[in-house]
Amino acid sequence: MRAEQDCNASIDTSVAFQDVRVVPGRSCGTCTLCCKAVGVEEIAKPGGVWCQHCVSGKQCTIYESRFASCRTFYCQWMMEKGLGSEWKPDRARFVLVKTEAGRHLSACVDPGYPSAWRRSPYYENLKQWAAEGIRRSPDLHIVDVMIGKRCIVILPDRDVDLGILAADEMVELGGAGATIEARKVKQPLVRA
Ligand code: SF4
Ligand code: SF4
Repeated sequence: MRAEQDCNASIDTSVAFQDVRVVPGRSCGTCTLCCKAVGVEEIAKPGGVWCQHCVSGKQCTIYESRFASCRTFYCQWMMEKGLGSEWKPDRARFVLVKTEAGRHLSACVDPGYPSAWRRSPYYENLKQWAAEGIRRSPDLHIVDVMIGKRCIVILPDRDVDLGILAADEMVELGGAGATIEARKVKQPLVRA
């Protein structure tokens, strides 16, 4: 298992906190999909390709010294009791990841199964979560699908394929009600 989408490192002391958030009895088992579908910031691994340290898609060869982001990451299936076994990433073929303090939900899809998110019950749920995110207006929450670097934003009434999302770009929602628009914008510069 590993880290957050475009998934940023956290300090190791958060591991214990993260562990507490795992639904009792839930474990990764043989799943390693986040090592493919989700990016690893420390080695600039994009989402959608296997991490160089994952052997045969089964084993992390640097497990004891794996990156901080890998140590602190759990997918939503591990942390949300309401997600049943059909949402386990190695079955769903995508990894649900929340970022931006829960305001951005991404389905990071295994590129080997690029349409996995369109199947039932996944698509209906993504639509429902998108509608709930819009109802939070003006604090709009984003639901999108990432297939490698390709981003498809889910809106209640349509899906918006934004194409490739560059490393310095992010998704932004604007407008209100039926006029909600999804667009790519440059990430704000962070002063060092
Ligand atoms: S995707 Fe989730 S269940 Fe699968 S290895 Fe990663 S954290 Fe574990
Ligand atoms: S370092 Fe290990 S845990 Fe982290 S992404 Fe690579 S294989 Fe997975």
